[in-house]
Amino acid sequence: MRTQAIFTKALLLSTIFILCSFGNSSPDWGFFGHKRINRMAVFTLPPEMIPFFKKNIEFITEHAVDPDKRRYATKHEGVRHYIDIDHWGENPLEEVPKYLSEAVMKYGEMILFTEKGDTLTLFKYEKPKKNEEEKKEEKEGKKGKVKNKKDESQLIDVLSEGLEKKTPYSTFRDGFVVVKKDAKAIFGKDSMVIELKALSDFYNEYVANMYFDDEWKVDAEIINGFLGEYGALEKFTGGQIVDHFSGYGILPYHLIKMQENLTRAFESGNSGRILRMAAEIGHYIGDAHVPLHTTENYNGQMTGQDGIHGFWESRLPEMFADDSYNFWVGKASYIENPRNFHWDVVAESHSYVDTILSLEKELSITFPRDKQYCYEMRLERTVRVQCTAYATEFHNRLDGMVEKRMTDAVKAIGDVWFSAWVDAGQPDLMKQDEYIISEEEKKQMEEEEKLFKAGTIKGRNHSN
Ligand SMILES: [Zn+2]
Repeated sequence: MRTQAIFTKALLLSTIFILCSFGNSSPDWGFFGHKRINRMAVFTLPPEMIPFFKKNIEFITEHAVDPDKRRYATKHEGVRHYIDIDHWGENPLEEVPKYLSEAVMKYGEMILFTEKGDTLTLFKYEKPKKNEEEKKEEKEGKKGKVKNKKDESQLIDVLSEGLEKKTPYSTFRDGFVVVKKDAKAIFGKDSMVIELKALSDFYNEYVANMYFDDEWKVDAEIINGFLGEYGALEKFTGGQIVDHFSGYGILPYHLIKMQENLTRAFESGNSGRILRMAAEIGHYIGDAHVPLHTTENYNGQMTGQDGIHGFWESRLPEMFADDSYNFWVGKASYIENPRNFHWDVVAESHSYVDTILSLEKELSITFPRDKQYCYEMRLERTVRVQCTAYATEFHNRLDGMVEKRMTDAVKAIGDVWFSAWVDAGQPDLMKQDEYIISEEEKKQMEEEEKLFKAGTIKGRNHSN
């Protein structure tokens, strides 16, 4: 009875929230979906874990949405919920490095300041022009011009030829950056080859600790030491790294970090920490299972399908999950390679993006226009939603996709909780009781809740 009431309330609240803010700040999977996914994951756990998690199942359920609330408190939160993987070239899953440090350096920029007051660019990634654009410009007879422009702006080449593929994804460490534009001024040569591994190591040693700072300035001594090894001609007064990568989302990297955090929490034996980390990683794993969290066209805004994000991940689960989805996903299993595991989830999610967009496009053209959107009363407010018949038809055409992604998320969360516990040495959870939230935590949560209700997302406005 009580559970039923909670679900109904959660459903109403989440739907209203989504519709009021259609297209710019809907919480992923809806609050309903995230809570349901976290809750069901508890039942995948082995006998050594399940009593502790069951005792705290309300905490795990309620806190499934904390990371979304935090997007209103810090600008660094938003990017953890998605990755616009298709922003990064034709074969992004092969090209984007699996380590954040490498991705930041590959797609970033390093600026050097000279004693004379000049600024030189050691490297800067330039997104290659899309083929379609080139074709279009070719058609319009501008090809020569475009080519010249491209050559001038090409600051670096990233070479990964001969890269030995041990995994489906680029390791990047085996690649090289060829510095061209300012190579003459910096090294007295037309070009300079720098190992990407060296740049990645440089980042890890001198930049990573500044990740949350607004500017990533590097001291002269460090810059000169690094470039000295490549025979730089002059001494620099300092340098700066500019991150052009994180803004397009860092979800899979964050998942790997969160799994490590959860493992540390199990090691610490602090039940509050374990539960917080478990609930929160559940949220991010849920996000990673939503195909529209892996694309730049996350809300159909590039294809005239605004609102498809909430339609797929909130409206459909809210309509169908309770009555028709089967959440029995079996027992959690151990993850051998977390990095590949989380990237595989993203890759699979991304493989559904085109299907979702094209099915809805087709349906929106063939379905009677005036029967696509309806108005419903929710908590004394009129809200615009996809009509039941329209939503049902879309759901049918998706052929089980929403249920599959939702239940796969449940299984993945169980797998991650279980693996973190195993990696922590299988600590005895039987001693742990129901967790009581401290006053301080309560205060912090209220603060986040307030900001959440005030409703301005810090940082880039993204639907997830
Ligand atoms: Zn999220």
